[in-house]
Amino acid sequence: MKIVLVAFNASWTHSCLALYYLRNAVSGLDYEAEIIELTLKQSLNEALEAIYVSQPDVLCLSVYIWNAGVIKNIIQELRKILPQVIIVLGGPEVSYNENAFAEFKPDYLVKGYGELAFRKLAEQGFECNDKVIAREFLSLTEIPFPYRAEDKAQLTGKLLYYEASRGCACKCIYCLSSREEKLDWLPLERVKSDLDKLVQLKPKVVKFVDRCFNLKRDWARAIWEYVISLDTDIPFHFEVHPDWLEAEDFSILSKAPQQRIQFEIGIQSIHPQTLAIIRRPSDWSLVRANLRLLNEKTVIALHVDLIAGLPGEDLPAVQDSINAVLQTQPAELQLGFLKILKGTEMSEKAIEWGYKWTEVAPYQVLQTPDLPFEEIILLEKISSLINQYWNKGDFATVWTKVIEWRKPYDCLLELLKLNLDADNQLHSIDRVKRFELMSAWIEQDWTGEQQTYLSDALRWDWCRKAGEAWFPASLKAEKCLSFRKEHYQEIYEWLKTEYWQHEDLNLKRFIVFSASSNEFCDDFLLGYTKAAFINRRSGDNACVTLTHPLC
Ligand code: SF4
Repeated sequence: MKIVLVAFNASWTHSCLALYYLRNAVSGLDYEAEIIELTLKQSLNEALEAIYVSQPDVLCLSVYIWNAGVIKNIIQELRKILPQVIIVLGGPEVSYNENAFAEFKPDYLVKGYGELAFRKLAEQGFECNDKVIAREFLSLTEIPFPYRAEDKAQLTGKLLYYEASRGCACKCIYCLSSREEKLDWLPLERVKSDLDKLVQLKPKVVKFVDRCFNLKRDWARAIWEYVISLDTDIPFHFEVHPDWLEAEDFSILSKAPQQRIQFEIGIQSIHPQTLAIIRRPSDWSLVRANLRLLNEKTVIALHVDLIAGLPGEDLPAVQDSINAVLQTQPAELQLGFLKILKGTEMSEKAIEWGYKWTEVAPYQVLQTPDLPFEEIILLEKISSLINQYWNKGDFATVWTKVIEWRKPYDCLLELLKLNLDADNQLHSIDRVKRFELMSAWIEQDWTGEQQTYLSDALRWDWCRKAGEAWFPASLKAEKCLSFRKEHYQEIYEWLKTEYWQHEDLNLKRFIVFSASSNEFCDDFLLGYTKAAFINRRSGDNACVTLTHPLC
């Protein structure tokens, strides 16, 4: 008998941890188990073909909020071409909402963590009177490492999920994990041995799915220390609670090399009254101080989350959170929107409070008593703009100064107007276009010394990543281009003899930067006016202040 375990992931680089657990759960039984990882981007026919060709007797699908719609379509069509197949559904989307798939008549639903329930179902030959099978608690220590050496070809270069602890200590009213009763941690030695195996698989990133990774402080610190000690260039991603970070954490984390550790930090709101209603106690002044310490003492890339549509929050309240969070200069801010998930306390409160949300996944709020639909739409556009103008990291030098002078939300609003006037698709704006509109914004909405400084900062940001000595017309780079043209040979020889003979650097393709603002020269160029940016084969261009007599 053949069991085929199928996931629909958000992209090719993702993988689905649950399938590997379930594959291992039926190990030793008389089944052939195959894993098929598809993506939401594939057509219905491509997905049907992949499943049909594998000729499953039992088909298991892992259902999440983002793939529920696709899986409903797949089940309907599969019933026509594989009428005998036994369909088993699991995952968060069916665990708390067993009726969501009732009309598609799955043979079995597995609710909650599925390892034990799925094994029992398999032991009974997938012939069981109960159609809904509830989970039974199984300690993580009894669950083997999910991936096998033979999975390497399939997993290399992908984002791999790893679970070192289960359950969540927090009780956020909108989250299904708040209903977890048991907390469970793998012993440290097991985690270290698993990490060694993960590194062997050469993934693109290892993402710990642990809900509150740093709840158990000593355990978390020991894992961070181990991750830092590894001889690898793989980044490790953790979800951490910022209120729980302590001096010892900063001291350990300050030793992490570039790109070794990434943090995801759910802030959701800076307003204490909101945080009290959603039962997510947090002290914004402490969080802000900890975010700043992370930025000062470590090279950890910080991805922070805010949620729009929380109870009692109107547009100015969301704006305050965006302003306050961007002032701490995270690498990325994701402005998400409240989802009303069945099975959460929020789903009951939302009816009482008069919320409106979408009938189908992802059940996102359409309006709240404090946030009308038009303002939700506006915030969605702002969210896309944050992705394009902040999260890509292209304008880091510009933003560092802008947030000293003005509120970031007001700036985003002005940039939004320029992008809408230019008919740009906000979810994907070409890099040159983004620079041109940033340049137009500096020209239009800034004056005097601040405008001169920001124009320099924008050209500097362009030079950090430019592949050649070319500037978009709007960047006013005449001084840079003419200086390079006139003095290319002298500067090239000077760089070669005075500076680098480094094989990672392509000296011939240097780019000249020339500043006009005295303040900018003091901040970045030791009072000189010019710099050379040199193409590096990996990462951002290298920067050298030009102290040559010609400059
Ligand atoms: S939102 Fe995060 S912290 Fe809150 S209950 Fe869910 S998993 Fe836990």
